[in-house]
Amino acid sequence: MRQGVLERYRELLEITPNTPMISMGEGSTPLVRSRFIENEVGCAELYFKLEGCNPSGSFKDRGMVMAVAKAIEDGSAAIMCASTGNTSASAAAYGAYCGLTTIVLVPSGDVAAGKMAQALAYHPRILVVNGTFDQALEMVRTFTQRYPVTLVNSLNPHRLEGQKTAAFEIVDDLGDAPDFLFIPVGNAGNITAYWRGFSQYADLGRAETLPRMMGYQAEGAAPIVRGEPIAEPSTVASAIRIGNPASWQQALTARDQSGGVIDSVTDDEILSAYRMLSRREGIFAEPASAASVAGVIKFSGQLDLAGKRVVCVITGSGLKDPDLATQNIDMSLQELPPELWAMEKVLEEVVQGTLSLGPKA
Ligand SMILES: *Cc1c(COP(=O)(O)O)cnc(C)c1O
Repeated sequence: MRQGVLERYRELLEITPNTPMISMGEGSTPLVRSRFIENEVGCAELYFKLEGCNPSGSFKDRGMVMAVAKAIEDGSAAIMCASTGNTSASAAAYGAYCGLTTIVLVPSGDVAAGKMAQALAYHPRILVVNGTFDQALEMVRTFTQRYPVTLVNSLNPHRLEGQKTAAFEIVDDLGDAPDFLFIPVGNAGNITAYWRGFSQYADLGRAETLPRMMGYQAEGAAPIVRGEPIAEPSTVASAIRIGNPASWQQALTARDQSGGVIDSVTDDEILSAYRMLSRREGIFAEPASAASVAGVIKFSGQLDLAGKRVVCVITGSGLKDPDLATQNIDMSLQELPPELWAMEKVLEEVVQGTLSLGPKA
């Protein structure tokens, strides 16, 4: 049986004899070498860390397993979060696995279909709030201070602790930290957690170098880039549609200590990277995840990446947002009767032997 992150990184996490070592098989996600974008951006090596391969389809599971284990250790019977999707999907999955009462607040209209389907399937108490994510989070904060319910948003310190294990895995796979880590930034918990993980490995002598942390927000939801909260953030990438990031200061620290950058990419750049990832790399990512790839493409126009080793974090699965994928089809689907002659007609270039077999330019 594959180890979960609690077991795999036991000595680097706050595990006590009373911590239940739960796992749904989170972590140990693939680090896949790029076949196309690597050449486009001109770096020596480009890898994608496929966090969509986690049990509920996003990196949120790494932090959730830790937060839920600690909630159980502390005797809590209920967990609660506000979420535009992936946090609630993850909380509901682990809540179901552990038999905890799970309450999720989702802002109305903001949730992608796949995430909503997951939330419904895992069957937590779902409260749809007619407001923004930030307003829903504020409600959860106050409620969990008043009542014996554990908050499992990234304000819960155990979440970031669990999430840092992704940085450990990258170093374990590559033998050292990469030169650059590109990552989407929403609430800025993940960039904070990765920096903590890389720093801890360096302190322990398990990595010789530290990466430059390259965080990317969506242009319509870029409070850190602009230096002020945004009341009505807007972007196609719902997972990073955040106007007032909870880990704002820590993200700035990660940026500054690492000599990195926090910048923004437009929705067009995100969607272009999203299509390139699926069509050229075979990686179906959610739009927020494509922000890291849009970031490396944008940055490669600003700085020479020759000789550099780069990792892009692909934070979640493209299946989370199926509507966006079907909207992004710019080809017509060919219909035909169930007859061989019809297929021969449609696939004329194959029949005539004029199909070019070389790689597409
Ligand atoms: C949560 C999430 C993000 C943003 O991570 P933060 O820790 O909020 O910065 C990005 N992509 C996906 C798929 C997510 O679920």
